[in-house]
Amino acid sequence: MSLAQTAAPAVAPLVARVVPDVTGLDKQFDYLVPEPLRASMAIGSLVRVPLHGRRVGGWVVALGAPDPAVPLERLVEIAKWSSWGPSAEVIELAEWAMVRWGAPRLRPFLVAADPPTMVHSLPSMRRTVTTQASVESGVRRTTPLTDPLPMLVDLARCGPMLVVHPTPLAARAIASRLRKAGLTVALMPDDWAAAAAGVDVVVGGRSAVWAPCPGLHTVVVLDEHDEALQEERTPTWHARDVAIRRADRAGAACVLLSPCPSAAAVQWAGVRVQEPSVSESVAGWPFLEIVDRTDEEPWKRSLLTSELIAHLRDTSTRVVCVINVVGRARLLACRSCHALQRCEHCDAAVAQGDDGQLACKRCGTIRPLVCQRCGSSAMAMVRPGVTRLREELEAAANRQVVAVTGESHELPAADVYVGTEAVLHRVRGVDVVAFLDFDAELLAPRYRAAEQAMALLVRAGRLVGPRSAGGHVLVQTFVPDHEVLQAARFADPGRVVVSELARRRLLGLPPFRALAAVEGTAASEFAAATGLEFATTAKGALLRADSWDVLGRALVATPRPKGSRLRVEVDPARQ
Ligand SMILES: [Zn+2]
Ligand SMILES: [Zn+2]
Repeated sequence: MSLAQTAAPAVAPLVARVVPDVTGLDKQFDYLVPEPLRASMAIGSLVRVPLHGRRVGGWVVALGAPDPAVPLERLVEIAKWSSWGPSAEVIELAEWAMVRWGAPRLRPFLVAADPPTMVHSLPSMRRTVTTQASVESGVRRTTPLTDPLPMLVDLARCGPMLVVHPTPLAARAIASRLRKAGLTVALMPDDWAAAAAGVDVVVGGRSAVWAPCPGLHTVVVLDEHDEALQEERTPTWHARDVAIRRADRAGAACVLLSPCPSAAAVQWAGVRVQEPSVSESVAGWPFLEIVDRTDEEPWKRSLLTSELIAHLRDTSTRVVCVINVVGRARLLACRSCHALQRCEHCDAAVAQGDDGQLACKRCGTIRPLVCQRCGSSAMAMVRPGVTRLREELEAAANRQVVAVTGESHELPAADVYVGTEAVLHRVRGVDVVAFLDFDAELLAPRYRAAEQAMALLVRAGRLVGPRSAGGHVLVQTFVPDHEVLQAARFADPGRVVVSELARRRLLGLPPFRALAAVEGTAASEFAAATGLEFATTAKGALLRADSWDVLGRALVATPRPKGSRLRVEVDPARQ
């Protein structure tokens, strides 16, 4: 009989590293796992721990033997196991995302991965797909009108699949259609526990990219071009990039679907870009009517072209007019002395709101509708807004025109609407979408302007339907030969990506280099402290590095100036 058999079986102590769910605290702490909790404790578990005299929630991010440098008696015990949480795979993904998006904290990513309510046990779920077939990673270009469902069903038959859609409402519709196709489906975030138990398809909005999906075989991102895939709050993580990384780490395939894939997606895919046939492309893109305004006399310019008026007066068509200017006008000029209207305090251009007053966007000074030079109150609207255009359109159309902005709630029934691009999400059953001043999108001083303009044409195309049924998108422009317009006109968005990639390589923009916008009082001080290349901007600073990794590491390692409240936006959507 050996000594070991007679002695009481010694159980090695187990230590959990915990990220407390507390805002403003970016430390991790070690706790002892008490014997009764051992069986349920896993990486990702949600627990409650004592911290500074109170009990707080937290995530277990590592489990292991105690650090020999720390005496065991100094460790306190975890108070409670609360719930299933993000899998070890997702915790690792969050740790990567922290650096990728230059965030000093893990917590925001873990919150995105959390179940919506505590999950004490997993339901028993069933997978109908038991075989595994290989799926090729890459970009699959579709058309605005391509129904992704047949492709999704095919991919789901190859193994467990995670599907991300930029719109939660659309994700819900896809979930119900996949169920009808006989697959078991978990819709995020509500079906978190079912997803963790194992189903054929996990589907949801952008946060679903963090969803549990054991045995992950394929990650699909739908409408990869859509900006809603990027988180607006900091850290500004993008579901496309998280999906690519997640699939890569899991040995799964990543499939990005879009009628106009982003430059970043195409650069990632390299040769793995599948394109639709020419006839499919043409059938899936709307008819694009380009109204060339270059012959108009500058002082007489009006957004109501004769082509637009013809559509407005045709009472058999429902028309939606888009102009991304709220209020009455963004820019005005005096009719008697021709002075551009400016703020008397800071010289910035003033805009006219719905109340008729002139307001400075920079300093907030408000004055009545009076020219600062000659005192006249007769103004020309150089850049008219939704409110003013509604009146002009109604007069030209000779029928009711309803204004729609992001804020308006109930939409009155009408056959003609005018609004900011938000109107494209609000209205159904339209014959014509008219972009009154498309150059404001095409020529916007933002590096993603061309892609964003292309995305607007896609959305408009979905609203008006196929050209075979009369679907019609009208664009008023001074740059009729712009590559975005030519690409949409010939149903060939590939040409935009080719010129985008060449331009971005030349200018050192993503995906070739990494970019971050820093805003806030101490932005320049912080930018200088990172040691990265930077330029000051109106709101702060723009930082550049040769890779996301170099950028992110510098952002994480640089202490934020005390009390600075910095906003660090990695890969800014609107710069
Ligand atoms: Zn001002
Ligand atoms: Zn004047």
